[in-house]
Amino acid sequence: MPTHPLRDITIIGGGPTGLFALFYAGMRGASAQIVDALPELGGQLTALYPEKYIFDVAGYPKVLAKDLVKALTEQASQFHQEAGLPVHLTQRVVGLEEEDGHYVLVTETDRFPTKSVVIAAGIGAFSPRKLPQAFAAEWYGRGVHALVSNPEGFRDRDVLIIGGGDSAFDWCAQLRDRAKSVTLIHRSDRFRAHAATVNEVQAAAALGDGRVNIFTFHELDAIHGDTTIAGVSIKDVKAKTSREIACDVILPMLGYVSDLGTLLDWGLNIEKDEILVTTQMETGRPGIYAAGDITTYSGKLKLIATGFGEAAIAVNQAVHHVYPEKKVNPGHSSNLAIFGQKDD
Ligand code: FAD
Repeated sequence: MPTHPLRDITIIGGGPTGLFALFYAGMRGASAQIVDALPELGGQLTALYPEKYIFDVAGYPKVLAKDLVKALTEQASQFHQEAGLPVHLTQRVVGLEEEDGHYVLVTETDRFPTKSVVIAAGIGAFSPRKLPQAFAAEWYGRGVHALVSNPEGFRDRDVLIIGGGDSAFDWCAQLRDRAKSVTLIHRSDRFRAHAATVNEVQAAAALGDGRVNIFTFHELDAIHGDTTIAGVSIKDVKAKTSREIACDVILPMLGYVSDLGTLLDWGLNIEKDEILVTTQMETGRPGIYAAGDITTYSGKLKLIATGFGEAAIAVNQAVHHVYPEKKVNPGHSSNLAIFGQKDD
């Protein structure tokens, strides 16, 4: 099992909290790295709502979720330009060990020795819920996309979206001008999506030009094709009839399954599947801190803005834990020599 070099701080999770923690660790002169289970940085922002605007991040009147991730990545990158960003993706942390006076975070394939840990694991390691039909399994990677990372790739395609929630309707709205056609199917006629988006998609379907179609009480019945998808059959669950429609891309928008895994068994202070932290973001084990959606305390707000503040506290505590001679208080960035300002 590959063992990575010992770091001062290892951050579990590359969501907004983890990315800001990586920046902060660099600013404090600590060596740091992110380990994340997903294939891309950004946590919920990338996986669940990349194309949505966020209005309550300080300093941005509005910002697309994917653009905030880009800006956070750029901010974190400034201390790590030569070696590339110290980020290890598709690495789910499954264990915590102690060795030679430091911790080792263990993933399914690698070992990450570290002097301290900042847990910014949000709602846990999450993965898109897969299509329940057994026949669909072999089409993942051949036309069935669990995640949408490049909407432009669906230009002039016949896209089938399965689901009735925010993601299903958001992607219908996003793709309807790019795709040749977008068809949404849902097992019922009750949608769990923002009313304005549902209205927008329903209005587009009502035009009747075939560019946007909605079939309620329908489910996927068969996928046709050889190596790529050449069409699908969808079944009316009430009438028990099946029809074939044009389709070469399937986007299942069935939500996510999230899993906190072994984190809950690490001897940390846990309250209702969240980490109960002190005002110093301590978790109950020395050198292990937590920040962001995973934490709880009286008055906790699960917001990006709070995650940023908690990341700063957690990292400053971790730096002081690793280097007791370094102060907890970082001083003002506007005054730090690391940014070419006055001596700190
Ligand atoms: P996350 O974003 O959840 O990131 C955690 C990361 O940790 C993930 O990448 C995950 O893969 C990784 N991870 C977890 N467990 C492991 C493990 N064992 N090993 C490796 N990696 C692991 N907030 C706002 O402030 N404003 C908004 O407008 C807003 N809109 C939202 C809209 C939607 C649709 C949703 C779903 C949320 C919204 N939020 C909003 C909430 C916001 O997204 C969260 O508060 C924020 O993402 C929390 O950031 P985080 O970094 O703490 O956790």
